[in-house]
Amino acid sequence: MADLLSISERIIDSGVLSEMPNRVTQELSEVADGLAVVESFSHIWGLDTGDGLVLFDASGVLTGMEAMESMRGWRTDRVDTLVYTHGHVDHVGGSGAVLADADRRGYRRPAVVAHEAVQARLERYRLTNGWNLGINARQFGGTRNDTMRLSPGKSGGKLGERFLPDDVAEPDVTYSNTVGMRVGDTEFELHHARGETDDHTWTWVPDRKAVFVGDLFIWNFPNAGNPQKVQRHPGEWARALREVAARQPELLLPAHGLPIGGADRIATVLDNTATALEHLVESTVALMNQGADLDTIIHTVSVPADLADLPYLVPFYDEPEFVVRNIWRLYGGWWDGDPSSLKPVPKARLAGEIADLAGGPLALARRAAEVADSGDLALACHLVEMAADAAPDDPAVHEIRADIYTRRRSEASSLMARGIYRGAVKESRAVIGD
Ligand SMILES: [Zn+2]
Repeated sequence: MADLLSISERIIDSGVLSEMPNRVTQELSEVADGLAVVESFSHIWGLDTGDGLVLFDASGVLTGMEAMESMRGWRTDRVDTLVYTHGHVDHVGGSGAVLADADRRGYRRPAVVAHEAVQARLERYRLTNGWNLGINARQFGGTRNDTMRLSPGKSGGKLGERFLPDDVAEPDVTYSNTVGMRVGDTEFELHHARGETDDHTWTWVPDRKAVFVGDLFIWNFPNAGNPQKVQRHPGEWARALREVAARQPELLLPAHGLPIGGADRIATVLDNTATALEHLVESTVALMNQGADLDTIIHTVSVPADLADLPYLVPFYDEPEFVVRNIWRLYGGWWDGDPSSLKPVPKARLAGEIADLAGGPLALARRAAEVADSGDLALACHLVEMAADAAPDDPAVHEIRADIYTRRRSEASSLMARGIYRGAVKESRAVIGD
């Protein structure tokens, strides 16, 4: 059993990311008496109420069964209630394993509790199954050095043709804003918040001064910008963190990464995370109000350096620039402010014109390679993309394109950007015939 609180204490107090906080060990650690976590993707948290366990999240389909076995190495009591902190598949995908465990042990089915928007999310996942399988493959396809490494493990779960596994447990009990729950002697206060998702629940346990925050704190820059997913809510995310902080928790229990102990430490972490998000929202909205377009805003707004350097706000997963785009989308819509992009020509036509001016697609691609060699990979990507749009089947162009995106990927910090660049490399390799 690892002493998780002392690891998080070391990282936060030193300000140095000396160890990776997002561990997927599938092992259980007790964090306080009767309170334990299985570090997985996502974690399963268990609280022993004396009259059954309350679990927070079920982990994903690949990890749920093994994570539940780890939980059972700690307690064999009936699971009274399973709370979904939100409906992302890495949190609900293992619920089939939780229900199967109850069945096997002859226990009654645990009550599944979630915010009412979880239901609509599950329905949306069925509606957009192909889209979601595609983006997950891109987003998590290149996890070589990632902090949020997926561990398929020995669990027996497998990824199928369904983004949302068929055996996911639908919520039995839902609520709107806030709801109280009592299991055994323990009181729980469930609160709805929008942030990473529209269906988040954070749960305050007053007796223990503990808060289960789901993904409102993830040991990475907040995942409020994901380029391939539905709207996120950075401003409301910050507000939720402030509401959590107002309880003055002494234990912060996230669904990814390490738990954090100590009222002052938690207050600081919550304040800094909220402040970073508030800064992005306020700066973006101020520029929008001044009439700035999206191009100006994404190249102007950034996180203050003292916050960007914190070991729990590193953009390993999402990036502040993507959060800025989501703020723009939330308040301003999808149009970026460029009149030519409102009703564009097919991009191959524009690319063909530019390639002709440049002396052909290969000349344009070669210029892209020069620009890349000079160090401006972002500009090189624009040029080589046009070359490939102008000559989609030209292996020589795609050789250069694959090389440029390979380099761009290796310089990108976030898993989301790396996944998309890796997807581009794979496309070009398919044309080359590698
Ligand atoms: Zn998550």
